[in-house]
Amino acid sequence: MFESLTLDEPASTVDRVADELRRAVFEGELESGTALREHGLADSLGVGRSTVREALTILVAEGLATRAPNKGVAVATPEAASVRDVCAARWVLEGAGVRNWLRASAEARRAVHESLDAYISAVHSEKASYRELNERHLAFHLSLVALTGSPRLVAMQEHLVLELKLALAQVDRIRRNAHDQAEDHAALVRLLDADRIHDAERFLQKHLSDAAHDICKALRLEK
Ligand SMILES: [Zn+2]
Repeated sequence: MFESLTLDEPASTVDRVADELRRAVFEGELESGTALREHGLADSLGVGRSTVREALTILVAEGLATRAPNKGVAVATPEAASVRDVCAARWVLEGAGVRNWLRASAEARRAVHESLDAYISAVHSEKASYRELNERHLAFHLSLVALTGSPRLVAMQEHLVLELKLALAQVDRIRRNAHDQAEDHAALVRLLDADRIHDAERFLQKHLSDAAHDICKALRLEK
């Protein structure tokens, strides 16, 4: 089951095992509900079971895996309430960034344009993988939080979207509407460039609540 997992160097650290597991989850190699057995993983990755156990504890703490009594650890299944909560929390952070547009540093504002351009060029490139599109998309949203000028808020957003990446990795196998999505983001940046901050705020709020709705619908999550 874990044949596709590899480490570039002789395995030793917990972090590298955790990284490889994240990669496999985000690329959809390990689907929701897949049992992450210590023994099998330790064998496949060539590390000790205690290393695997520690790495799994990290994934559980990040919400990417769950630990059930008598069942061990499995890849988490996104829940509708969590998806909505993550999107609501993102609105608090991203909305704060948008509201700070006029006071943000020139560098932070330039980063918003650059991450939008990178996202749009990935959308129009035939070669971009779903994972890359997701990364670029989330990087754009992260650049909005960076408008606050607070590294702590940026770190909070990075942590928040980990859970969302799990849901997005599953959505990708179902459908893709990247082209419409990219235009939505360009429209948001046009509002900011026109200093229409209030309109930009409302636009972002709708974008994030639509995102929560779309993800839940695509994954047919319970209400
Ligand atoms: Zn978006």
